[in-house]
Amino acid sequence: MTDILSLTPEELKEEILALGLPAFRAKQISGWLKTGVRDFSEMSNLPKELRESLKERFSLTAPVLLRAQTSELDQTGKFLWGLSDGNCVETVLMRYRYGNSVCISSQVGCRQGCAFCASTIGGLIRPLTAGEMLDEVLFTEKENDVSVSNVVLMGIGEPLDNLDNVLRFLHLVSHPEGRNLSLRHITVSTCGLPEGIRRLSEEKLPITLSVSLHAPDDETRSRIMPSNCGIQRLAEVCEEYFARTGRRLSFEYAMIAGVNDSDRQAELLAGLARRLGAHVNLIPLNYVAERGLKPSSPAVIRRFQGLLEEKGVNVTVRRSLGGDIDASCGQLRRKHMNKQQ
Ligand code: SAH
Repeated sequence: MTDILSLTPEELKEEILALGLPAFRAKQISGWLKTGVRDFSEMSNLPKELRESLKERFSLTAPVLLRAQTSELDQTGKFLWGLSDGNCVETVLMRYRYGNSVCISSQVGCRQGCAFCASTIGGLIRPLTAGEMLDEVLFTEKENDVSVSNVVLMGIGEPLDNLDNVLRFLHLVSHPEGRNLSLRHITVSTCGLPEGIRRLSEEKLPITLSVSLHAPDDETRSRIMPSNCGIQRLAEVCEEYFARTGRRLSFEYAMIAGVNDSDRQAELLAGLARRLGAHVNLIPLNYVAERGLKPSSPAVIRRFQGLLEEKGVNVTVRRSLGGDIDASCGQLRRKHMNKQQ
């Protein structure tokens, strides 16, 4: 059966016309879909027979909330969703002064193998559909009675390893007849897959691309990120991305004690960031018990930040939210899986 939530409003209209129904029915259905409905029977302004025939023709995904945790420190919420096939993914809701932001997963598991990341431990299970990614936004809004203004694809999975579905999701979530979020308020984060970055640049979307760099030299980067394609190649494809889209990139840099926090590495990172006009986001590593890597101390992070600033790099240290609720990628899913074993 066709997954109705993954259809674009244009495709839905075609399906509805093909059924011999008037186009306004498609608009009514889109109007319901963006509110996070669980069943066609909820679409109360449609005739009963139409609801029945939609049910026969289309499937409708809706995740089940398996676990919700709210940080007592900062109200960050973390949600573990059960999917229709029994897999689960997690979503984080962050409340900022300027609005609510959700961090969504793009795959069940991940095959990139980063040494510090909990999401990759069991490998890749499957990609998420566009509709399932949209569900994460819609049901986080519904469960918490909030409206979301920003979306970051920084949860479980590698978005550029699921690019077709991610592009479809971006279309759905920003469509005026859909959830109508501005693409300017969406960030896609990648471990730096060059082919994916190139394909994304062809779409010329006004999203923000965030590259998880984590090390400015190939020796260190290949050690902690097996997907490393080579810093030089990555820099070239990032330059091409900027040239095509006019959008500056940002670098994510998780600070790991004794691994990527030396003065020399600050200097190399500064060179790369300046070459690309990239913003650098330093993140104190979130400790993942299975991984044994430790965060750099606050003093080392301050020094590293100072060295970057001296070289004229635009740098922020990410405020760590949800430290008391396993809010780092894949940690909640990991716990859930450990318990089931
Ligand atoms: N696959 C994508 C998006 C998911 S990870 C990517 O690699 O960007 C989202 C971000 O969290 C990435 O920058 C990732 O490197 C980082 N991350 C993963 N585990 C972390 C940890 N234990 N501490 C800090 N950041 C971590």
